[in-house]
Amino acid sequence: MILMRISIKGLGISGLYLYERLKQSGFDVTAFDVRRRDFYIPCAYATNFNLMKPFMSRIGIDFDNYVLFRSETITMSGENGSEIEFPSAGLVTFDRNGLQRDMMNRIEMETETKADLVVDATGISRSYLGRINGDLTYYTKEYLTDHVIHRDFYFLFLNRGVGYLWEFPLDRGHFHVGIGSIRRDDLNRIDRYNRIRITGRRIRMKPLFEVASIGNIVGIGESVGTVSPLTGEGILPSIESAELLYQAISDKSDPNEAIRLYLKKLNTSFSHYYKLSDFVRKVQTGKLLRPSNIRYASLITKDMKHFGIDFSLGKAVRALIQ
Ligand SMILES: Cc1cc2nc3c(=O)[nH]c(=O)nc-3n(C[C@H](O)[C@H](O)[C@H](O)COP(=O)(O)OP(=O)(O)OC[C@H]3O[C@@H](n4cnc5c(N)ncnc54)[C@H](O)[C@@H]3O)c2cc1C
Repeated sequence: MILMRISIKGLGISGLYLYERLKQSGFDVTAFDVRRRDFYIPCAYATNFNLMKPFMSRIGIDFDNYVLFRSETITMSGENGSEIEFPSAGLVTFDRNGLQRDMMNRIEMETETKADLVVDATGISRSYLGRINGDLTYYTKEYLTDHVIHRDFYFLFLNRGVGYLWEFPLDRGHFHVGIGSIRRDDLNRIDRYNRIRITGRRIRMKPLFEVASIGNIVGIGESVGTVSPLTGEGILPSIESAELLYQAISDKSDPNEAIRLYLKKLNTSFSHYYKLSDFVRKVQTGKLLRPSNIRYASLITKDMKHFGIDFSLGKAVRALIQ
């Protein structure tokens, strides 16, 4: 049997994970990225340790070695000043630059390769699948800082659900403070923090599963919108989508069949992102406190828990309507 040749374009978190999964299973896989090796990744570096660790173990990485800070209590706040605390369900920050650098060092990059299946793992840029109408991206800006107001994880949700400001602890007295919003003007809200380093990029906040493949090109990760429309969590969801593609490639030797199977799995596993996206749009158009929104309750709780926050909607609503 001739093995399918796979070319991964983009070695962010999802491309790196997929590369390792395929390589370690004996597939004919090559990979390529345009990024400088010392590039500081624009991200708050937060993830759910309990879910991330098993994925990393599958590719022979001990995730404990990369953890920077383990949260105990997460504070969420609204612009009305109300604050509410939730216990952690595994929320940590980790050394994302170090992890990706270590993974990258195992790879010899190739630019020109003939492939039966091309994977677009280029994140926000969708360089191979192409841009589309109806995409939804938010602005972000983030500082590496040595001074914040809160010592543990902190979220400040902006009115009308247009985005949020975060303070996430790293190690050695450092923190990330950042803001993501649908409005560019909100970005200056972090300007009062001390800035050691500045970063940022647009983030895709809408699933694009209906435009996740063209011919023999198929997307994983943020290129197809595996980012929570509620929290912007994209690290684990992007790895999860890479795992779905790995499984489809392992199951089907024909590239077209593998793509078909993957798209089916993607739609099933992440169908709640469409619903969460609807919910956020309702909040943004002033329709938060509608009784019909109760149908989103379990999805919101599930999505927060996935990120590592032991969230309770009842508690949050009580604080919100105080
Ligand atoms: C400010 C900010 C904070 C965030 N914080 C968090 C967080 O705390 N937790 C969380 O879970 N998620 C967070 N996210 C989201 C998360 O970082 C992304 O969703 C996730 O990295 C997506 O992974 P990916 O592999 O799809 O893409 P990426 O990790 O973005 O990787 C894409 C790769 O493709 C490469 N590339 C681009 N164009 C080309 C090309 N033409 N050819 C080859 N390579 C190319 C890039 O160099 C890059 O290496 C944050 C995002 C932002 C912007």
